[in-house]
Amino acid sequence: MKVLAIGAHPDDIEFLCAGTLAKYKRLGHEVVMAIATNGEVGSSTLSKTEIAAIRRCEAEASAAVLGAEFHWLGYPDEFLFNDARTRLRFIDLVRQVRPDLVLCHDPENDYHPDHRTSGQIIWDIRVMVTVPNIVTEHPPCAKIPATVYMDTIGGVNFIPERYVDISADISTKRAMLACHRSQEQWMIDMFGVPAADMMESFSRMRGFQCGRAFGEGFRVPPVWPRTVDPEGLI
Ligand SMILES: [Zn+2]
Repeated sequence: MKVLAIGAHPDDIEFLCAGTLAKYKRLGHEVVMAIATNGEVGSSTLSKTEIAAIRRCEAEASAAVLGAEFHWLGYPDEFLFNDARTRLRFIDLVRQVRPDLVLCHDPENDYHPDHRTSGQIIWDIRVMVTVPNIVTEHPPCAKIPATVYMDTIGGVNFIPERYVDISADISTKRAMLACHRSQEQWMIDMFGVPAADMMESFSRMRGFQCGRAFGEGFRVPPVWPRTVDPEGLI
């Protein structure tokens, strides 16, 4: 099976679903990471161009920890919009990757506009990726991929329907997040908490909720036909 995770910002996947991706990888599945925006506002000292270049390298390094294929869409941080051109770009990404399962942000419950928008676009193009009359560089997918929403940062306004036990994969999740060195001081300056502590506490909390040491939570969007992880991990 092939799993595509799409994060709005360069470190979202690491906070919200990296343990699950590591587990898929460990179980022999293919994993692809895509980042929608370039993270260019994530510094108080570097220019937009400088920090975007650094964050791309950090995200690539994180994907390399996992051995995941990596895609960088490069949209401006905090200014992602659900317009025709962006939808076509997302359609082409999904057609290029041809995933069985897509993990994306929750467009209904997430509080961050880039998260909501990227999740909404994935939801909106879910069927379109198979439609021949919508033409992009890559040919249409043969089937509609299953789509699952990942958690929100801190679990705000998100009640998981499914939990994945990531206890055996937390060290990979830590190593992936640690690649985002440029964000260590930024997170402390902005939110008063080190990124690693934030991830650790939250993964423990989701683990506590499902009776494991570490966990990640997901929600399966309501639609007909209902789409679920074909492998049954989520
Ligand atoms: Zn984000």
